[in-house]
Amino acid sequence: MQLPEEFISRMSLQLGDEWPELQQALSEEQPVSIRLNDKTPLPEFDDAERVPWCDAGRYLNARPRFTLDPLLHAGCYYVQEAGSMFLQQVCEQLIPTDSIVLDLCAAPGGKSTLLAQHLSNGLLVANEVMRQRAQILAENVAKWGSGNVLVTSNRPAEVGQLRHLFDALLVDAPCSGEGMFRKDAGAVSEWSVANAQMCAERQRAIMNDVWDALRPGGLLIYSTCTFNPEENEQNVHWICEHLGADLLTLQVSDAWNLYTTGTGYHFYPHRQRSEGFYIACMRKHEGERQTMRLKSSRGTSQRDSLHEMRQWLNQPDEWLLTSDAQYVHAVRRVHTDMAEAIGQRLYCLLRGIRVAEMRGRNWIPAHQLALSKHIRQSAFRQVNADLPTALSYLHGEAVHFTDAPTGQLLVCYQNVPVGWIKNIGNRSNNLYPDQWRIRMNV
Ligand code: SAM
Repeated sequence: MQLPEEFISRMSLQLGDEWPELQQALSEEQPVSIRLNDKTPLPEFDDAERVPWCDAGRYLNARPRFTLDPLLHAGCYYVQEAGSMFLQQVCEQLIPTDSIVLDLCAAPGGKSTLLAQHLSNGLLVANEVMRQRAQILAENVAKWGSGNVLVTSNRPAEVGQLRHLFDALLVDAPCSGEGMFRKDAGAVSEWSVANAQMCAERQRAIMNDVWDALRPGGLLIYSTCTFNPEENEQNVHWICEHLGADLLTLQVSDAWNLYTTGTGYHFYPHRQRSEGFYIACMRKHEGERQTMRLKSSRGTSQRDSLHEMRQWLNQPDEWLLTSDAQYVHAVRRVHTDMAEAIGQRLYCLLRGIRVAEMRGRNWIPAHQLALSKHIRQSAFRQVNADLPTALSYLHGEAVHFTDAPTGQLLVCYQNVPVGWIKNIGNRSNNLYPDQWRIRMNV
């Protein structure tokens, strides 16, 4: 990999004696890491080395062909860069599990799925401004299956109008990507000092636009995957001074070998088995909280058809179901007013669990329900697919199960749901969403 000359001179100034080590690390293979979900035990990863700062993180010794593992498509784990999993420490040390959290720049969803897992009694708004990337975010959030996420696609200034709504805000900002050079050749070819400067300015504009959404006393987590101080430390100082926040420190183990200038924490490929990553936490200054009024939710008296659908969920009484012309959504009762208020103001791609969708003139179980951790599997007739059948199914083929009952069936792989088919006797319709299908030959 040919590194830009100016990058080399800036980094050797920044790192001094350590620069040759980073340069060497950038020419080595990138580590492979995954973060486990809790849908099912995965004994195949029992012996894999743990990521030191994240209990659910595992290093793999080689990169498998992830696309050919149905358990990935079922949301049993997420392929994620190890440094990013440090967000787990922030969660454990600073975010109560019943918080209302905004992940502003969320696609493809690595950090959103981690946050969603942590917020066992909370709510996450995972927002991504680019519509196409927001679709991928919604797919990954649905596969993870926590049910406590609203996926939205709005500009930071639009989200900023949700005044003082959030207890915590993550801005994993678009950046010059110096920490991704090993992974992404495009980041090297696009790099220039001017581009890093442009990114730093854009990050400040994003922060300025969204700032009002964080409540007084709320937590800001700011992160990038780049090394330079303009996009990292200098921006954090700017946020503290111009927007009004205090820098926080985290308890970190010496064994993790993090690098800090006193303002946030850096991961470097020569110090950790990780790509480059920077993260800093700040507390917004206290002040008067003026949140928008939340109207009490309609829909408490549900139609019978929706009542029936609640039985498709575990702990049906925890959920409130509402419908529009296309979909039925389930949101935890404690969050329904909040979810409705957000849904009225932002463009919402996914609202909690999508339980059912309208086909013809009937409600049928939605694909997202199959992947939800809250599905009551016993409410449905199931078929178990072996590996070749599961891959054919994920490829979009019409798979056949001998002796299976007719009607809509839940397709499972190793007892974990992957989607639905409609069995019509001698053949079946594959209901796996077109855009999610495996494209490669299986
Ligand atoms: N948090 C994600 C994860 O962990 O999977 C990665 C986010 S990535 C570093 C930054 C995201 O910011 C991209 O998805 C990008 O589309 C989005 N973005 C780009 N320009 C933006 C802008 N002006 N305002 C807000 N988000 C932007």
